Amino acid sequence: MTTKSGPQHYPGADRTHWYQKRFPGDAMEVNVVVLHTTEGPTLPDYMGGLIAPNLTAVPDLTAQKLDWFQHFDIDVSSRALVNLPGGVETNTLNVCQVELVGTCDPATHKKWTDGGKAHIYWPQAPEWAQRELARFLAWMHAEHDVPLRGPELWPPYPESYGSKAGQRMSGHAWNAFKGVCGHTHVPENLHGDPGAIDFTGLMQFAKAARDA
Ligand SMILES: [Zn+2]
Repeated sequence: MTTKSGPQHYPGADRTHWYQKRFPGDAMEVNVVVLHTTEGPTLPDYMGGLIAPNLTAVPDLTAQKLDWFQHFDIDVSSRALVNLPGGVETNTLNVCQVELVGTCDPATHKKWTDGGKAHIYWPQAPEWAQRELARFLAWMHAEHDVPLRGPELWPPYPESYGSKAGQRMSGHAWNAFKGVCGHTHVPENLHGDPGAIDFTGLMQFAKAARDA
């Protein structure tokens, strides 16, 4: 099976926080992007890369752009998902993972707002942030054939934790899935990020970027 076809570095991404030497991972052929929110205000250390995604998008609120940091090649497995013994594969199942710096938790959003801490609350992300993320997804579509589609249900956090809201994929659905989803959709995982992002709007921007 072919692996690692297409460009492995997102153009413009900073690679000073590179973890692939320490954690070589598995070569893959990505057909899924999994979105996370970091639930913190700055670029995480990820325990020295132990729980790092492929890329992190750090908002520059003044310049109104996302600063991209890449930690692993696009087609190399990263480490931000739980994978239980047995069952399905998660990190290694042809997924490219992106952590969005900010929060999807309305309680954290309120705390940061009350404390005067500027941040992105991803369920209400400004248009520039949605468009910058969409540009990445359009690139993943053009260069890695990731379909610009995803699950119907994006429940808000904290209802998105666990699987009571009905959004979490079965192992069977996950194995068959190609497209863009959230941590909240991945089986064997409980986390509810990135919550109720405007996925319809994100896909519209991604298709507009693709067609531009
Ligand atoms: Zn996550």
